[in-house]
Amino acid sequence: MKILVLGSGAGGGFPQWNCNCAQCAGQRRGTTRARSRTQSSIAVSADGAHWVLLNASPDLGAQIRTQPALHPRGRPRDTPIKAVVLMDAQIDHVAGLLSLREGPPIELYCTPCVFEDLTSGLPVLPVLQHYCGVHWHLLPVAGEERSAAFHIDALPGLRLHAMAIAGRAPPYSPHRHDPAVGDNIALLVEDVATGERLFYAPGLAHIGEAERAAMAAASCVLVDGTFWTDDEMIAAGLGPHTAADLGHLPQSGVRGMVAALAPLPATRKVLIHINNSNPILDEDSAEHHELRRHGVEIAHDGMEIEL
Ligand SMILES: [Zn+2]
Ligand SMILES: [Zn+2]
Repeated sequence: MKILVLGSGAGGGFPQWNCNCAQCAGQRRGTTRARSRTQSSIAVSADGAHWVLLNASPDLGAQIRTQPALHPRGRPRDTPIKAVVLMDAQIDHVAGLLSLREGPPIELYCTPCVFEDLTSGLPVLPVLQHYCGVHWHLLPVAGEERSAAFHIDALPGLRLHAMAIAGRAPPYSPHRHDPAVGDNIALLVEDVATGERLFYAPGLAHIGEAERAAMAAASCVLVDGTFWTDDEMIAAGLGPHTAADLGHLPQSGVRGMVAALAPLPATRKVLIHINNSNPILDEDSAEHHELRRHGVEIAHDGMEIEL
C-alpha cells in the first residue's frame, strides 16, 4: 500500500493566512525552523495507479499539482483519482470536492450524516450536480451501526472499514448540537495482498476500546496531531476553544496521544492535521524532540509511506 500525504496541517494550514502567532510569524520570517503545511488530506493506493482520497482539502488543486502520482496520463482528460472517502463534513476536509468539478462524476463514500450536511448546511453536493455530478456510496455508519466494511470498485486491492468515533457535526450543520453516529468516522484500510493496515483518524477526540483495537491492528497509524496541550489556543491568545471543544485529543499528558501510541505494535506512528499553534511544528522545540524520542513522526506535505 502506498500513502501520500497531500496536506498535513489542520484547518487554516501553516502559516495560517491571518495568524500572527509566534510560530506563523516566525515561519514567514524564516526565524522559526518549520515547514509550511497545507490543510490535511491523504491519497492511498494498492497499485500506485489508482488512488482514493481520504478527505478533500480546500488546498486540493495545489496539492495535486505537486504530486506526479496524481497527474493525468493517457487520455486528453484523465485522472488516477478514482474515489473520495470523507471522515466528516468539516470545511477543511470537504471543500476540495469543488476543485474536482472538471473531472468525471465523483465516486463519493460518506455516512448519511455527512451526506445530509453536504446537501443542507453546506450544499456542495447539489452544486456539484451542475458540474461533474456525484455518485454517493452510502457508508452505513448510523444509529445502532457503529462500523461498516466496504470496498471501492476501482481499487479492488484495498479493503476498508469505517468506524464511528466521538465528535460533533461542523458548526454550520443543522444538527450541530445533536451529535449522531456517523458525524465522524475513522478508517482502517487494508491491503488485500499483503495484509498491511493503515489506521487513519485526523480528528480523534477520545480513544475507547474500539479505537484502541483498530489502532492495535494497524502497521501504520496516522492520527490526530492537532494540539500539544488542551488550552494551547487560549494560552497563545488565538481563541476561546480548548482541544476538547474542537474534538481533538492533545498529545501531551498521561492521557494524551503520545501515551496512547506508546504500547501500539505499529511500525509507523505518525501525527497529521497539525494546527499552527502546535509547538511540534518548530523543529528546534523541546516538544518536537520529545516526539522523536518516543518514535512518533510528524507528517509533512509530500511525505510518502509505503506499507
Ligand atoms: Zn480539520
Ligand atoms: Zn499561528
